[in-house]
Amino acid sequence: MNCAHCGTILPEQANFCLQCGAVQQTKVVDKLVCNVVFRQVDEKWSLFGKEICRFEAVGEDGATIAVSDKFTLTGFEIYGPNEKNRKYKAAFDGLVKKLLAEGWKQTEKAGKQWFELQFQQS
Ligand SMILES: [Zn+2]
Repeated sequence: MNCAHCGTILPEQANFCLQCGAVQQTKVVDKLVCNVVFRQVDEKWSLFGKEICRFEAVGEDGATIAVSDKFTLTGFEIYGPNEKNRKYKAAFDGLVKKLLAEGWKQTEKAGKQWFELQFQQS
């Protein structure tokens, strides 16, 4: 890093400039983390209560980072999207592909559901 005041090259994480003594803003080194969640985005009324849903990757600040293709879940699927359903799995895989392409890496932490993965970016 360089001193914000005089431009002298400083060791990373330096709090003060060795040359001019200016206080340095230490960069945030926290890793960005996002979690894949399942959300209902719209409701299409029918006899079976079909719901339009998608997977979303949400950051810790609540910002949506990426979304999957939408898919329709019937009212019978009260436990959420089943991994064995190829349509849901394809939407999920598409979202994961987007995250990987943007430099996100899957962490070891995951939720109870098959799609509740966590990703991080340094
Ligand atoms: Zn300086």
